[in-house]
Amino acid sequence: MARVPVVVSGFSRTRRRMSLADVRDTIIACEKCPRLRKYCARVARDKRRAYRDEIYWGRPVPGFGDPRARVLLVGLAPAAHGANRTGRIFTGDGVGGSGDFLMAALHRAGFANMSISRHADDGLRLNDVYMAAAVRCAPPANKPTPGEISRCLPHLVAEIDILPHLRVVVALGKIAFDAYLQLLTRRGIVVRPRPTFAHAGVCVLPNGQTLIASYHPSRQNTNTGKLTAQMMDDVFRKVREVLGVLEVREVR
Ligand code: SF4
Repeated sequence: MARVPVVVSGFSRTRRRMSLADVRDTIIACEKCPRLRKYCARVARDKRRAYRDEIYWGRPVPGFGDPRARVLLVGLAPAAHGANRTGRIFTGDGVGGSGDFLMAALHRAGFANMSISRHADDGLRLNDVYMAAAVRCAPPANKPTPGEISRCLPHLVAEIDILPHLRVVVALGKIAFDAYLQLLTRRGIVVRPRPTFAHAGVCVLPNGQTLIASYHPSRQNTNTGKLTAQMMDDVFRKVREVLGVLEVREVR
């Protein structure tokens, strides 16, 4: 996807600035979607046999990463036995799961200090990257409803508001891509023509951010070769290119 011309149609920021701890507490306490809250609680109670001795998190999952990040990764939602178990986004969905695939790519690109993501206390540190999701509660069959996505977006808005250095947004999957465009529209930022989702597609947004699309690193995509490590590296190479251009501009 080529860079797409855009038109600004207003911009408003009326939210009170919250701290990272405030935002995290608000997300964890959220009960706005009864279907998802019931599902997460049931999964946490019933557990998967392999994790039967663990205490599942079972609550909404806040974002994780560098508070000074220039790069935001937006995924779909916590995995039922992954982040819904560990409490950290893209963490614990098993060997070869999306967390490991993504973290290996972030590590190769110099954004993470380790190449796997299995436990919330594994020492993972992200540099210049913050990870979040469109929806914070694991949905049945990984399919949130449009209403659930819409209800959850304020949490992403709140996190973005505490990431003052944000310059690049990587949307992992079409649902995250569409959710981010919806978020922009709510903030009065209309992107025209509307960008089409395509892997490694780049769109410069009216607010100065760059939106980069990627296939979601789900097993369904990585096991079938729809998304390869090389393709994921291509996305982070583009992220580095954008950050490099920004650095040159800032030095000038
Ligand atoms: S999906 Fe989002 S809005 Fe719905 S209950 Fe979970 S945290 Fe709240």
